[in-house]
Amino acid sequence: MGLPAAEQTEAFAEILREIQAEIALAQERGVYAAPRVQLLAVSKTVDCGRAAACWQAGQALGLAGLAENKVQELAQKCAQLPPEVCWHFIGHLQTNKVKQVLGRAALLHSLDSWRLALELERRAAALDITAKCLVEVNVAAEASKFGLAPAEVWDFLREVTTLPHVRICGLMTVAPAAENPEEARPIFAELRRMRDMMRQRVEKVAYSNLDLQELSMGMSNDYKVAVEEGATIVRLGSVIFGDRIYR
Ligand SMILES: *Cc1c(COP(=O)(O)O)cnc(C)c1O
Repeated sequence: MGLPAAEQTEAFAEILREIQAEIALAQERGVYAAPRVQLLAVSKTVDCGRAAACWQAGQALGLAGLAENKVQELAQKCAQLPPEVCWHFIGHLQTNKVKQVLGRAALLHSLDSWRLALELERRAAALDITAKCLVEVNVAAEASKFGLAPAEVWDFLREVTTLPHVRICGLMTVAPAAENPEEARPIFAELRRMRDMMRQRVEKVAYSNLDLQELSMGMSNDYKVAVEEGATIVRLGSVIFGDRIYR
């Protein structure tokens, strides 16, 4: 904060290098680790200047994108940051705000209802684009969280095959908050098993808009465990930007 731009960018570069090194170590340790893990910087509540500095630092360091969880904040940052930034949307999305996210975000991590899927289909068809999504799964069945129950996911995926402008690229989960990241391991392992099982079923029937490659799981506190368990996308906020200040 308050650093000159070049120093701010270098500070982010240092953090991102450390994280990439940790990811590489976790890939070596984990028997289930994916060969390629995308790193997203969660820039929610972070001002545009710092988000831009992080994006810039990330260019040489394999940063895959910036992620936001509020529609209005996504719109504001999209308008102020360079157009080449790859944005991801990771928050609960209301159907009346689909229009503001489609076309801006490369991937929606939080498809959590059939109503939302229908609205994505309608809007994406009108724009003649494909809405790329992950299905959010509430693996731990927490009352406070969005996401489908594990038992609902397969039927949901089959329904989505009737929506030609929606493409499901994988599954996403948020593990329950815990001091000890090991507590998240069974949650991540469960999501991986679900993805593998659904992928096998999909291969047999060749649904063209289901391509279940991605596993978006792992945040600042638990990303190393998530990578060991097969994450292909990790979503990191506070480990990059420091503690969030909510206004
Ligand atoms: C805020 C948020 C993150 C990042 O959280 P940190 O603990 O700061 O890394 C990741 N995923 C989702 C869905 C979030 O809302």
